[in-house]
Amino acid sequence: MVQLLNRRNSRPVKVGNIVIGGNAPIVIQSMTNTDTKDIEKTVKQIKALVEAGCEVVRVSLPDIDSARKVGIIKERLRQENADVPLVGDIHFDYRIALEAINQGIDKIRINPGNIGDESKVVEVVKAAKERGIPLRVGANSGSLPKDLEHLPKSQALAESALREVRILEKHGFYDIVISVKSSDVVETIEANRHIAKLVDYPLHVGVTEAGTIYNSLIKSSVALGVLILDGIVDTLRISIAGDPVNEVIAAKKLLTALHLRRGPNVVACPTCARTVFDVESVALEVEKLVAHVQEDITISVLGCVVNGIGEGKDADVGIAGVKDGVVVFYKGEIMGTYKFDEGLIKLKELVAQALEEKKGI
Ligand code: SF4
Repeated sequence: MVQLLNRRNSRPVKVGNIVIGGNAPIVIQSMTNTDTKDIEKTVKQIKALVEAGCEVVRVSLPDIDSARKVGIIKERLRQENADVPLVGDIHFDYRIALEAINQGIDKIRINPGNIGDESKVVEVVKAAKERGIPLRVGANSGSLPKDLEHLPKSQALAESALREVRILEKHGFYDIVISVKSSDVVETIEANRHIAKLVDYPLHVGVTEAGTIYNSLIKSSVALGVLILDGIVDTLRISIAGDPVNEVIAAKKLLTALHLRRGPNVVACPTCARTVFDVESVALEVEKLVAHVQEDITISVLGCVVNGIGEGKDADVGIAGVKDGVVVFYKGEIMGTYKFDEGLIKLKELVAQALEEKKGI
């Protein structure tokens, strides 16, 4: 793993037992899409997210009844060994925020500018301070104030978020995480770069409403990749329409690709006329085999010897097609030439062996 050398020096904020910002590793977040009042479904989905590697889970709290379920959900998660900090997503109604705080929520996402007169903001700030929980504030390109419309979008996003920050600061509240969200990649990059220069609060970054899986993976990887390498991402969400577990898998793969997390790296060639076995199905099988591995392990699956020998020797474990079958590699050495079926068995054995050895280190 590498540390980003130019990481922005943001103020650390605690969400339950997780630190966002400062020098802490970038935190992976996702959000449930169940009805929060449906405790069984919500607990089940949060558990699936935690199992996939999610470190902070946001739940929508559209009404007071949803907020009243927070305590039970947290207790169930504790009992079922899936304790994870929960963020309540609240719009407009400060009473929902107060109830969620009362129920033990770990962070609230709310914009003080949306909740009405100052006395209501004061109440939320007071409750959050008493419980020591942070507030996430921000701006979304879909709901910018009219008087900022003359500004470039990225600047308007940053300015709108800063207005929310200033309301909290006015009331002596500094336990803040900021998000500036746009569904446009370039706007996301520019807005985050802009606000990162103006304040030291940690940044929650993601392309909002990024779409279905292909669109989201491309948009999110570009925007987040750039901003992570800029050193200004403290926590991220890859928003994908559908099962939120995909968001966590994608986030982990992105951080692993940037060497910021340990994890598997399955190298596979795109195949061509030289391919001698079904590379795609082997690569998919191997990916499944190592999906939950939290160690750095590289496995190469190449259809022929053209690049197969080099990649195989560089990998922890490798397989490459040859004239009569496959060659299998282990730590840079050729273990032998096999018929395809035997070679696949050997590959799996060697993956297990490599993982055992890594555990023992
Ligand atoms: Fe084709 Fe071999 Fe390259 Fe795979 S490794 S794409 S089979 S040349």
